[in-house]
Amino acid sequence: MSKDIDDVSNNIVKMGISEDNNAVPPLSRGVEEKTASEKECTSCEQKVEHETNGRHYSDTDIVSNSGVDSDIDVFTCANCGKEGASNSCNKCNTVKYCNAACKKKHRSKHKKACKRRVAEMYDEKLFKDHPPNEECPICFLPFPLDRDQQVFETCCGKSICMGCVYEMLERNGKSGLCAFCRTPHCSDEEDIEKMKKLMDKGNTEATYLLAGYYATGSRDFPQDHQKANELYLKSGELGCAGGYNNLGVSYRNGIGVESDMKKAQHYYELGAMGGNVESRFNLACLEGNAGNHNRGMMHLMVAARAGYNKALDKVKIGFQRGMITKDGYENVLRAYHERHREMKSDQRDRAVASGM
Ligand SMILES: [Zn+2]
Ligand SMILES: [Zn+2]
Ligand SMILES: [Zn+2]
Ligand SMILES: [Zn+2]
Repeated sequence: MSKDIDDVSNNIVKMGISEDNNAVPPLSRGVEEKTASEKECTSCEQKVEHETNGRHYSDTDIVSNSGVDSDIDVFTCANCGKEGASNSCNKCNTVKYCNAACKKKHRSKHKKACKRRVAEMYDEKLFKDHPPNEECPICFLPFPLDRDQQVFETCCGKSICMGCVYEMLERNGKSGLCAFCRTPHCSDEEDIEKMKKLMDKGNTEATYLLAGYYATGSRDFPQDHQKANELYLKSGELGCAGGYNNLGVSYRNGIGVESDMKKAQHYYELGAMGGNVESRFNLACLEGNAGNHNRGMMHLMVAARAGYNKALDKVKIGFQRGMITKDGYENVLRAYHERHREMKSDQRDRAVASGM
């Protein structure tokens, strides 16, 4: 394995500290179980205890989340009742009016339902299943959830799965080449230069990785949390949900920014909606700690369905404690295994087994 790849994966491992371990969602039913609920935070090494809660979950209370106002008729004016209304409420888009005047008259009556519907629409988006990860450009399988199982090549600006890197090594017997474009690996300095150039051109992964180097001070970077956060935001805007997650962690823990739970939640939500399972897990923790146990469990179920084993463990405990129905749990399990099947290949298994 080339030094470049080692360095990159080491760095990715370091960035994996981002999980919000001191805020694990409560799952206990009032009986304290230290074994399941006491953990050491990986970032501050403090013992953290999960709060306990008497709330029970049922499948219905977890998945019933799509109420639509029954009194809404989209074809008649919500204010005067005339037919042929075509002027929609531009916030919720669920009521129509004859004109702006009817809309204005009805505003105070509609305000509450509108707000509720807007919140429901947001939740529909927030609790959607994650799409599969992006595909490796060589084997066309979705990348594993573990970022450690992919490398970024600055020659072509592409991420490659370790299975494909391993297969090239097996076939050619030599390392030091990009598995995608076969360009020999360059020096560390050149690699960083290329990465910066890729970032300037808007390469998402390069931006995310450079943020990580600033955050951890690795690869001879000066540690600079503000710069890291700036780049995490940029990578998030470019489509890297992991960037949003790490920015959320910064806001939660006050790293390079002032601690701000609202902003932490905002970025965790963006990360979760972008398909980042760690972000969703962190969000579950925040919701649980805020007393929103139902929402916390919903997030855990979505993350488990996307194949995240840490979330599945929590969902399993939830099922054992009667918080989730058998059907609900089986449904999560099926989706979890299906996701893993999609991401699995012999060469990926061999790469993992080789300790690559
Ligand atoms: Zn009208
Ligand atoms: Zn409305
Ligand atoms: Zn691959
Ligand atoms: Zn390449």
